[in-house]
Amino acid sequence: MSYTLSPIGYVRSCFKEKFAIPRQPLLAPAAQGCIELLPPYDQADAIAGLEEVSHIWVIFLFHKTLENTPRLKVRPPRLGGNKSIGVFASRATHRPNGIGQSAVRLERAEAGRLWISGIDLLDGTPVLDIKPYVPYADSVPTAHNAIADSAPTRVQVGWQMIALQHAEQHAQRLEQPLVDLIEQCLAQDPRPAYQQPAPERIYGVRFYDVQVRWHYLTLTHIEVLEVSPA
Ligand code: SAM
Repeated sequence: MSYTLSPIGYVRSCFKEKFAIPRQPLLAPAAQGCIELLPPYDQADAIAGLEEVSHIWVIFLFHKTLENTPRLKVRPPRLGGNKSIGVFASRATHRPNGIGQSAVRLERAEAGRLWISGIDLLDGTPVLDIKPYVPYADSVPTAHNAIADSAPTRVQVGWQMIALQHAEQHAQRLEQPLVDLIEQCLAQDPRPAYQQPAPERIYGVRFYDVQVRWHYLTLTHIEVLEVSPA
């Protein structure tokens, strides 16, 4: 039996590519986005009361990793990319029906637009549903997960002076916390776990309309080299 689901909106996000997006929401509070709702959900009635809520669940499609063949096991990056576990024991992007869920901070709500932060969502992500976060029901103090028992370890993020100056200029132009976003996302150590990054290896990613480039001075110390128009 198949069912047809239609997006109720799309995410406009600071993240223009999958690389260097935090693995879960709220790991980078400076990651900002906006859900643009589609008719008829762009009317004020659909969000009446949402102003009473601090966080929302965004149920969405991993639209860039949809696949037809069922995948029973996955290799999550946090296990080094070489240990496989069952897809239902993971929050992997390759999963049945490609459905994701993220609890994000609701910054502001107006008819047709929800401003959110602490996101882990790629620009253009189709949104299937939005629900208010219910602390007494959604956070289980006694819960445990031995596979993902803590937030990923963070690395130190330093700057070459010229890169920091350019980042501050672009932050002002964009009116967005770009410096914090870069520091919070790179602190998540976004390189593939199996890679031993030599200093000459340059990494890059696009946030908003700027290209950010960095390298590793050591395994636990990133240096941002360049922030330039993409
Ligand atoms: N919090 C969600 C969940 O648990 O279902 C997502 C977790 S998943 C590990 C987070 C990753 O999904 C991000 O690091 C990013 O690389 C990827 N991602 C975000 N939006 C996506 C999209 N629209 N299509 C495919 N991958 C996406």
